[in-house]
Amino acid sequence: MEYKDTLLIPKTEFPMRGNLPNKEPLRREAWDKEKIYHQVQERTEGRPLFVLHDGPPYANGDLHIGHALNKILKDFIVRYKSMNGYHAPYVPGWDTHGLPIETALTKQKKIDRKKMSIAEFRQMCADYAMEQIDNQRTQFKQLGVRGDWEEPYITLKNEYEAAQIKVFGEMAKQGYIYKGLKPVYWSPSSESALAEAEIEYQDKRSPSIYVSYEVRDGKGVIPNGAEIIIWTTTPWTIPASLGISLHPDLEYDIVEVDGRQFVVAHDLLPALEEELKWEDAKVVDSFMGRRADKIMAKHPFYDRDILVMLGTHVTTEAGTGCVHTAPGHGEDDFYIAQSYGIEAICPVDELGVFTEEAPGFAGLFYDDANKVVSEKLEENNALLALKFITHSYPHDWRTKKPTIFRATSQWFASIKDFRQNILEEIKEVQWYPHWGETRIYNMVRDREDWCISRQRTWGVPIPVFYGENGEPIITDETVSHVSKLFAEHGSNIWFEKEAEELLPEGFTSEHSPNGKFTKETDIMDVWFDSGSSHEAVLLHREGHERPADIYLEGSDQYRGWFNSSLSTAVAVTGKAPYKSVLSHGFVLDGEGRKMSKSLGNIIAPSNIQKQMGADILRLWVASVDYQADVRISQDILKQVSENYRKIRNTIRFLLGNLKDFNPKTDSIEESELEEVDRFMLYRLQKLIKKVKENYDVFDFATGTHDIHHYMTIDLSAFYLDFAKDILYIEAADNKRRRSIQTVYYETLVTLVKLLSPIIPHTTDEIWEHINDAEADNVQLTDIPEPREVENFSDELVEKWQHFMNVRSDVLKGLEEARNDKTIGNSLEAKIYIEAKDDETKEVINSIAHLHQYLIVSEAVLNESHPEAKEYQYINMFVEKHPGGKCSRCWTMSETVGDNAEHPEVCNRCVEVIKTHYSHLID
Ligand SMILES: [Zn+2]
Repeated sequence: MEYKDTLLIPKTEFPMRGNLPNKEPLRREAWDKEKIYHQVQERTEGRPLFVLHDGPPYANGDLHIGHALNKILKDFIVRYKSMNGYHAPYVPGWDTHGLPIETALTKQKKIDRKKMSIAEFRQMCADYAMEQIDNQRTQFKQLGVRGDWEEPYITLKNEYEAAQIKVFGEMAKQGYIYKGLKPVYWSPSSESALAEAEIEYQDKRSPSIYVSYEVRDGKGVIPNGAEIIIWTTTPWTIPASLGISLHPDLEYDIVEVDGRQFVVAHDLLPALEEELKWEDAKVVDSFMGRRADKIMAKHPFYDRDILVMLGTHVTTEAGTGCVHTAPGHGEDDFYIAQSYGIEAICPVDELGVFTEEAPGFAGLFYDDANKVVSEKLEENNALLALKFITHSYPHDWRTKKPTIFRATSQWFASIKDFRQNILEEIKEVQWYPHWGETRIYNMVRDREDWCISRQRTWGVPIPVFYGENGEPIITDETVSHVSKLFAEHGSNIWFEKEAEELLPEGFTSEHSPNGKFTKETDIMDVWFDSGSSHEAVLLHREGHERPADIYLEGSDQYRGWFNSSLSTAVAVTGKAPYKSVLSHGFVLDGEGRKMSKSLGNIIAPSNIQKQMGADILRLWVASVDYQADVRISQDILKQVSENYRKIRNTIRFLLGNLKDFNPKTDSIEESELEEVDRFMLYRLQKLIKKVKENYDVFDFATGTHDIHHYMTIDLSAFYLDFAKDILYIEAADNKRRRSIQTVYYETLVTLVKLLSPIIPHTTDEIWEHINDAEADNVQLTDIPEPREVENFSDELVEKWQHFMNVRSDVLKGLEEARNDKTIGNSLEAKIYIEAKDDETKEVINSIAHLHQYLIVSEAVLNESHPEAKEYQYINMFVEKHPGGKCSRCWTMSETVGDNAEHPEVCNRCVEVIKTHYSHLID
């Protein structure tokens, strides 16, 4: 007979290699077929609700790695909550209106929108968006993200638009919506106003000019004929110049240079002398800014009065301390002029081209006007210096072209009217990471009114009618009627029908005695669309609740969706739409650089999924500190794959040793488990507790690290290692063996559950190999609560923890013995241990089979050996065991050779063979 035929070597069909790229798609097909999302929802029905409300990605283009990070994190949370006592629906969303889709149609698809009606063009935009959604949906599902993919929320859907109209109507009712002339960020390249969130700063080369304005009436403070110097990098705004702002508390000097007198801030004079190459400037007088109030100067080339105004926005950081003020082209300018009763002029049209309002410039593009303005100033002897500088300048985030400030008639949400309420609500929300609170607080505190109108076609119309006298009309009645129309027909009806047809039957208004009406043609800012999702989804979608438990997006959404959602929700409900907000950073390459086509360092999630598997990408997400910026590279992914392989191998070992274990019939009563097994069960409970605590605060990196640590240190290096000598060697039904299997089974099931939110493809696969599993799918189970282990006291915890310390000493000694060739593997060792203190003595004396746990063939206790070495808790001596090596169990024993029939094996093995394998002997 072969002794190895009598060993219980692990057996399992669970493969060592995951082969994820081939196997994962099959599993996802099965999920679709079994409707796993709905099965989970049915199972958890009636539990406390946990709503993670999805921030809608924009429906355009393939997914990038940032999308993957976002959706996978959401999936971790939703899956975890579903397995931990909650009912956690997840309805993915898409944002579909806005300029990028209009641009995609006109540029990529070469659609000539002038050849069709607005409604037709909008229908094409809608079709395009739906195609994009299909593409992105496929890619999200490929990441293993579980959700209601068949019924997502989409901002172009009728019911969504209807709800959005209600949000707008409610805000109008509260008096928060107004129409006003205001300089707004304007993008000539998009022909549209832009929200702050659509602005990005880039370097731009601009002319930097110093211009003098002659004083006409100095009111005895400044001599008439003296000149006030201003500095600007936007010469094209000079035609709209209506004033000069000085700071009331700054000191100004009157300086004489080459027979001319100039006014500049005292603090800036030295810098200016250098800039303007003044060599013999002489200060002839000084005055405090406030004394110059309402002094009158002249426009450098128009016959126009220029008023000196006082404003605290003036600084001495650059320039001259005298600020050229063009209220049609700047926000500060607008407000200070308003306070002096000066109405803005804005001689630049939507294309950025000058109108007749700027004589001499009509037809010129604003940026081209810089040169002409400078020449005019030169002619009038008002240009003191001209050079070019590169500075940070606001650009349109989509077209990447510079923006301007332009006063236009726009619709606004009056943030200032409910700002205080928003700020108070921010304090009620739990922010992860904590700095998120300060970031959004400051953003809201400093925020101007929200310009919500856009002069485009692909979006939700602003549901306002106008009377014959031009007065806007928005009432409960009109809002509810338009909302109903949109719910039934979609917002395209706004562009298909005349105003009268969009009003309720028999509608009358004091503004239209003849019953004639017109309608607004602007659409809403897309941030208003997505910012209304709390109404459209949380309030109206079945099984949801407002506020949501959590919003989770990239950190750019503090000024985007977190902000717009908060504003509209506070405006219409008085409350924040979320209880907590979690943000993540950006994904950079291995060297910490942004990913870009030009650097060639883009890593696409679909490629990772195809080459390595979605679970590898997911395990990467679980490994990073995502609240800051994170890195990904092939090397990093290789490391993650290595960790994945270790998880797989540990699980495979457990499965292999449980092949012959039926939990129903073979389990050992917990109170009767061997002490070491109860200790391992206790350690497992500790792990559950730690992992849950980390998952609860969305710290998946620490959670999975704890699991990994447990698998490598507690299991692989200890519990799986020494147990081989029992599991393989003893008879199948041996109680000691069944005791270990009982704990292995619980360990395996628990680990699979803890990992299920993270690597669901793999855990589903493992689940299929578990004997007598409690449910068809691990996704339909709960992660257990950590519990007390029966018959296991605090004293025993201390004892076993101390044993682990002693074991460290022994491992050190064995390592040394291996190094000096006293022994080969540790089973060849016979060790002599003497405790250095009473506690250690008690521990080692009270553990039966101590040598087995230390994986040596014999341990002699309490015997001082003259050559013993000193360790932290023990003195120890290692020698090569004098007995023979058992051919079956490989331990060394003096009993090898005792049995004539089986001279190659030890007594223990003889027993097992005779009792259980006698049939093999014949
Ligand atoms: Zn043996």
